[in-house]
Amino acid sequence: MEKKQFQAESKRLLEMMINSIYTQKEIFLRELISNASDAIDKMYYKALTDDTLVFDQDSYFIKITADQANRTLTIRDTGIGMTPEDLENNLGVIAKSGSLAFKKENQSKDGYDIIGQFGVGFYSAFMVADVVTVISKAVGSDRAYKWESTGAEGYTIEPSEKESHGTEIILTIKPNTEDESYDEFLEEYRLKSIIKKYSDFIRYPIKMDVSGKRLQEGSESEFEDYTEEKIINSMVPIWRKNKNELTDADYEQFYQEKRYGFDKPLKHLHISADGAVVYQAILFIPENTPFDYYTKEYEKGLELYANGVLIMNKCADLLPDYFSFVKGMVDSESLSLNISREMLQHDRQLKLIAKNIGNKIKSQLLSLLKDDREKYELFYKSFGRQLKYGIYSDYGSHKEVLQDLIMFYSSKEKKQVTLDEYVSRMPEDQKYIYYASGESIERIDKLPQTELVTDKGYEILYFTDDIDEFAIKMIMSYKEKEFKSVSSGDLGIDLDDSQKETEEEKKDNQELFEYMTAQLQDKVTSVRASKRLKSHPVCLSTEGEVTIEMEKILSAMPNNPDVKAQKVLEVNVHHEVFESLKQAFDTDKEKLSLYTALLYSQALLIEGLPLQDPVQFTNDVCKIMV
Ligand code: ADP
Ligand code: MG
Repeated sequence: MEKKQFQAESKRLLEMMINSIYTQKEIFLRELISNASDAIDKMYYKALTDDTLVFDQDSYFIKITADQANRTLTIRDTGIGMTPEDLENNLGVIAKSGSLAFKKENQSKDGYDIIGQFGVGFYSAFMVADVVTVISKAVGSDRAYKWESTGAEGYTIEPSEKESHGTEIILTIKPNTEDESYDEFLEEYRLKSIIKKYSDFIRYPIKMDVSGKRLQEGSESEFEDYTEEKIINSMVPIWRKNKNELTDADYEQFYQEKRYGFDKPLKHLHISADGAVVYQAILFIPENTPFDYYTKEYEKGLELYANGVLIMNKCADLLPDYFSFVKGMVDSESLSLNISREMLQHDRQLKLIAKNIGNKIKSQLLSLLKDDREKYELFYKSFGRQLKYGIYSDYGSHKEVLQDLIMFYSSKEKKQVTLDEYVSRMPEDQKYIYYASGESIERIDKLPQTELVTDKGYEILYFTDDIDEFAIKMIMSYKEKEFKSVSSGDLGIDLDDSQKETEEEKKDNQELFEYMTAQLQDKVTSVRASKRLKSHPVCLSTEGEVTIEMEKILSAMPNNPDVKAQKVLEVNVHHEVFESLKQAFDTDKEKLSLYTALLYSQALLIEGLPLQDPVQFTNDVCKIMV
């Protein structure tokens, strides 16, 4: 018989499984039971939507059988089964997309909880078994097939015998080694506790033959051994349980079982709504940003159940984009099973649920912000950017929902603060909410433009994300305070007399600035005396809507819209350099041109803008050195 090779990627994972990268070997059972349950779900769903099939409740179950003599553990289900093609495609290949990307990113990690991240659950069987045999018969087929593998070398598929549809997975449990015992996976008591621990809420009965001793019939002292088939799990899905009965660990367990993420949930939300619309939901805010979160590949959505039956894996309509990081499920009695995707989109019930869920998530986040700042900051670090995108998108129509959830780094607090916190401590004479944009906190800290605002004792919000200024443009004002960039032409700050340019000075300098403006005519709209600089000689400010950061971001866009900021070169007239400029203006125009070019280049560098001609710049610097 021909031995087939696993796909390269699958093979690597398999090797990892065999070498047991995962310390909790017992989870293999959770994986196989979950697959069995999925297979029955599919069967159940098929029967509900196909008149030729009947679903007889009693004939759907999962059976676990341990045979200590032969060292086998069998997991049997009465689900949909697999055709030979299914066996080939589902068990020989890791089919899910994204797995490769994920592994590349995580190559350094030692495989922590890599299992099941992208449907490698089945392979976990190799952590405890030397041989894995799968005998399966697909529903509607009259032939069964056997898939068998001893590990990374490959697998075989051949015809086999099986009475009814479903799948039987037979594990030949490894012999004990010096440091590892595998016997436990054949022990009734241990198996029972693993099932209870991980698979209690599986909706189908998980049966096992359980042995015990009992009094012999008619006798009062004689005991006999007996074996009885018992259902091990309670079968109540976690979302139908009472919140008070559940612990954080239960929710975490569910999160992992459901593969919502490979991290731990930061926060869960258990909803049991019975108002205008009846539904239960368990929602999670993950702790980490999924590796593909900010890419096109990421698909938002919640699992959707209609009265306990899974009808859709990722129902996107249940979540607004700005909460796309939320994972979880919704079960509603008000939805019809046969509803099609197209109909779902227009379903009134679904819309109500979605709206309700959106509100709940928002209030959950607000209370997290209020009651557990540290956790909220963790959350914000992972998903804050998405909230800001949310404000910007759809022409700002969600800003009311989101503006209280966003935070920015504060020049004063040296940490993330909310807009509410900022506004509530504004001094009375402060008219605006000030912000400064730049690549990083360190760079903004050094921006000359912040001098006057800082000097006034005002707090500055640091915008380090591309989206920040765009989002703020949508908010426009918060609690009646408008936002103002520290680089904008008019800062709205009254200057002391000593800072003001006197009428006389103005007159004196006018010609000089006109001369410099003419020299930089296609680069800046004007050169003028700065009202914001104190110790630095020069900086750029902008007039109008477009700031320098916005210009940078827009010009980096693929079909770069040619939008330019209207730049003003501001010169500090109280700086020594200004004296040199004045002198040059009176005596040496060539020198003035050189100085003007240099100052402009310096201002560009401070902003992180590219120099048009770096070679010219270095030559100019050399000129003043000789
Ligand atoms: P996942 O369950 O995440 O898809 P697994 O590695 O656990 O990934 O399983 C791979 C695939 O093998 C499943 O998607 C399913 O198509 C198939 N499969 C596994 N076990 C069974 C089973 N007991 N019955 C039917 N199909 C199964
Ligand atoms: Mg699985």
